[in-house]
Amino acid sequence: MMASFNIKSTIGDGYNMNLDDVMSVKTILNSLGYYDVPKYGMTVYPDQQMIVGIKSYQHDNGLTVDGYMKHSGETVKSMNRNSSEGSDVKTQAYIWRTKSDNKVRSSHAEREGKIFSWDNPPEGGHPGEAYNCRCEAEPVGSENECQVLYVRIKNLKESLKLVIDRLEKLNAESIALVKEIEKLRQKRKPQIGKVIAGCIGGAFTGAKRGVSGAVSGCASSVVTDVHDISKINQAIDKIIKEMTIIENLRKIAYKRYEKINTELLEAIEKYNKNNCSVYFPDGT
Ligand SMILES: [Zn+2]
Repeated sequence: MMASFNIKSTIGDGYNMNLDDVMSVKTILNSLGYYDVPKYGMTVYPDQQMIVGIKSYQHDNGLTVDGYMKHSGETVKSMNRNSSEGSDVKTQAYIWRTKSDNKVRSSHAEREGKIFSWDNPPEGGHPGEAYNCRCEAEPVGSENECQVLYVRIKNLKESLKLVIDRLEKLNAESIALVKEIEKLRQKRKPQIGKVIAGCIGGAFTGAKRGVSGAVSGCASSVVTDVHDISKINQAIDKIIKEMTIIENLRKIAYKRYEKINTELLEAIEKYNKNNCSVYFPDGT
């Protein structure tokens, strides 16, 4: 049985569209000849070309031309009718599986892992039909379903690569800022030393002249150094603020990484479960 096409929520301008839906709609539009895959590949993000494709499809099939598609709506139903024609044969395939032991007859052992169509049985029949045959038919997902998964995996891999690049860039920026702070701290050390030395020195000479002399002696000799330190401190504060921003960006990027990664693993699992490599050998 072919899995029928549907969407979870409404597709169309002004709607917060479900990304899986966008991918399925683009895929089915493409298979029906109403969506050309852009140079950068099919993405899960809605684009004007998709809306135009929906409208053209609606126009050609006598539906209300509004560019909207609803869950189990007229356009969805019509697309299902049109796309199931011709693709049914291809969806009715299975993989021949033997028990893989020495009791398997050689003619069946040769069929292990090979694809057969339910419409066209090999000599002696489908798995389990021949006398004493313990072989089984492993189901294969529908071509449409597999195509959606195939494109989805490709796009998720692309997105994952981008987010990893971003994380690496943010990490590098963060490391560079830490180094900059370290440099400023090193620069500040001798300045602090000078201030202390200046005060003690001032206090010494001032002590002979009394307490007030000691204080003024300290203050006047180190005024420029204190100014330098506050400048350095300001620079450090500024960098720390920058680092906080980067840290937040990194958290966001990491969350996105985790989300994409989970979605990718799920898509690959589905792809493998449906034996989609029958239709798209390089899918994962
Ligand atoms: Zn057998």
